[in-house]
Amino acid sequence: MSRSPYDIVIVGGGIMGCASALRLADHGLRVALVERAALGQGASGVNAGTLSLQIKRVDLMQYALRGHRLWTRFGDRVGFVQSGGLTLAFTQQEAELLYTRMKLKREAGAPIAFVSKAELEKIEPGITGDVVAASWCGEDGYSNSSLTGDFYRQCLMESGVDVFEQQQVTRIEHDSGFEITAGQNRYRGRQLLLACGAWLKSAALMLDVDLPINARVNTVSVTERMPDLMTTVIGHATGLLTMKQKPNGTVLIGGGWQGVGSPDAGRGSVVAPNLLHNLRLAQHVLPALGGARILRSWTGYEANVPDFFPLAGKLPGYQDAYVLGCVRGGYTIGPYLGQLMGDYVAGVEPELPLFDPARNFQQN
Ligand SMILES: Cc1cc2nc3c(=O)[nH]c(=O)nc-3n(C[C@H](O)[C@H](O)[C@H](O)COP(=O)(O)OP(=O)(O)OC[C@H]3O[C@@H](n4cnc5c(N)ncnc54)[C@H](O)[C@@H]3O)c2cc1C
Repeated sequence: MSRSPYDIVIVGGGIMGCASALRLADHGLRVALVERAALGQGASGVNAGTLSLQIKRVDLMQYALRGHRLWTRFGDRVGFVQSGGLTLAFTQQEAELLYTRMKLKREAGAPIAFVSKAELEKIEPGITGDVVAASWCGEDGYSNSSLTGDFYRQCLMESGVDVFEQQQVTRIEHDSGFEITAGQNRYRGRQLLLACGAWLKSAALMLDVDLPINARVNTVSVTERMPDLMTTVIGHATGLLTMKQKPNGTVLIGGGWQGVGSPDAGRGSVVAPNLLHNLRLAQHVLPALGGARILRSWTGYEANVPDFFPLAGKLPGYQDAYVLGCVRGGYTIGPYLGQLMGDYVAGVEPELPLFDPARNFQQN
């Protein structure tokens, strides 16, 4: 089957690929999106769903603020809840870290305030009395990441994007355009966008480009349904905890604790001792969690490059091939970054700068 020529073929149906496809279709391009599994089955569908300005890095705050606005608009279709969020410190050292980081984030535009112990108790009465300092952001919240694929599938259909699921791309050839092979099928595009998440490295290698991408194996856990325990998104000053109670009563616990695995070898595995630290911290914050059973813990792959900034721009060495991925907090920022990428490829000046994949990577 040859479906050609598309103005652009996008490989990868996570949040980055889907959001870019929508914007490109808005600009009038004929777009094909080719996904190995179903849309949103990678990191975009298994993440913790936290939409927190407090855990975004300062340099990406303008992107995160705009990403947040988009999630507010997506609303019920993605299970968006603007719950507000707290970040807690339990020692003097953590409190100093919290003050330094949150002040910078506030200066970068995030509406973050420090709250007293009395205010904290009003917001979350179930929290331990050990808290030394706390910050609050009313814009923080969460969505249901398992709805990502269905949400975008609907939007893409309405926008006229041709979506091809269960199509693993195994070969990409470059001549006057790009010929993309997935099983028996071939897709031809004048341009190409690689948005393959943690599989971006192997995808770029199909065009002989070796990008310095690493994968982290993040873990998330969910408890059984509990009575009302908390109403906000709660994080820890070190970033090693995020948790929220979903409308159905389950509590989702994350914080970037590591499992093991590699993207090309299949699913990752949970590392129980690491998980235990994560769950102990959660229980320390909210003692009533001690009575909860963990129903399931799982992992997902998150990609990054040595300077921990995104890859968003031309694939090095190619005029008509692009790459988008490796975004920290990419679930929050993805919908907006996809729009910027769509503008760039369509020849429209993006509102904020992109992140050249051909830059000199230096540890940050
Ligand atoms: C466990 C976990 C928790 C996280 N928690 C949060 C959070 O709370 N808040 C937040 O903001 N961010 C969070 N993140 C980060 C966020 O989920 C990611 O940054 C974002 O989803 C990445 O989107 P993506 O589209 O680049 O990648 P993905 O969603 O992984 O999409 C890549 C897609 O490409 C497809 N693909 C790959 N290779 C091929 C191929 N050869 N052919 C066809 N298709 C291919 C894959 O199947 C996949 O669907 C978390 C990440 C993880 C893993």
